Amino acid sequence: MAEETMSASPPDKPVYRFAPSPNGFLHLGHALSALLNHDMAAANGGRFLLRIEDIDLTRCTPRFEQAIYRDLAWLGLEWEEPVRRQSEHFDAYHAGLGRLTEMGLVYPAFLTRGEVKARVAAFEADGKNWPRDPDGSPLYPDDDRHRGETERRKLIANGVRHAFRLDMQKALGLIAAPLNWSETGDGERGEIRAEPSVWGDVILSRSDAPSSYHLSVTLDDAAQGITHVVRGLDLFEATAVHRLLQELLGLTPPVYHHHRLIMGKDGRKLSKSEGSTGLAALRDQGLSIGDIRRLVGL
Ligand code: GLU
Repeated sequence: MAEETMSASPPDKPVYRFAPSPNGFLHLGHALSALLNHDMAAANGGRFLLRIEDIDLTRCTPRFEQAIYRDLAWLGLEWEEPVRRQSEHFDAYHAGLGRLTEMGLVYPAFLTRGEVKARVAAFEADGKNWPRDPDGSPLYPDDDRHRGETERRKLIANGVRHAFRLDMQKALGLIAAPLNWSETGDGERGEIRAEPSVWGDVILSRSDAPSSYHLSVTLDDAAQGITHVVRGLDLFEATAVHRLLQELLGLTPPVYHHHRLIMGKDGRKLSKSEGSTGLAALRDQGLSIGDIRRLVGL
């Protein structure tokens, strides 16, 4: 496994990171996250890193990435250089996937999104409920997990597109003690029990991107020696998957702080397409950094 994916030696200073994806413009929710990370690092004598999470090569663009730098600089933030860009570290994610594969925990998954949807719809037509993950997406069906090796090889040789998924039950079988994480955020606090099984066989590498959010975020937090992950409460449940991957790969877990979310007028979490709460739009309207801090409740 590449050296950079190993857990860094214990750092003497706390290390924080803001890790946006350049697939849209930053809004007030991102401002809260970035400012909190920056403020907590400053208050604790820590380091503040910026990581560009651009594994999705179809949705992430240089234009959005440049806008991130511009918006964060406008907020008065300073981050260490060089910035880690995930698209430059696919070899590290590949090595992590290889390690899990050697442990017998990974299988090729051939069903398309449409096929899964059709399967779920047919099952639910009878009034039954297909199990769903905490984000509301249907759990991946069993078929590919049970497929024989010869058939898998044949499908791959025939060029059938496939992702790679984690065999969740098998992975959990390797974990001896209950999985927990330390949480200091705005929701539940203290030692939180991680229940990764609610996510089913999570995706580790996609057919259109050589990694997945879960795998790259876990490997990068370890590679960068992140001691404190400060991010929105929308990622609280996903932490269970990150804890499992850390345990399987022998990585040191950070402390987690999941902060409140900024809601739009419709009471829903802000999305990157909502121009009115976009930082660039607010800047153009003449708002100051102080105004932004007030708007996000800091
Ligand atoms: N890249 C993720 C996002 O923009 C955040 C990942 C994280 O903080 O763990 O939502």
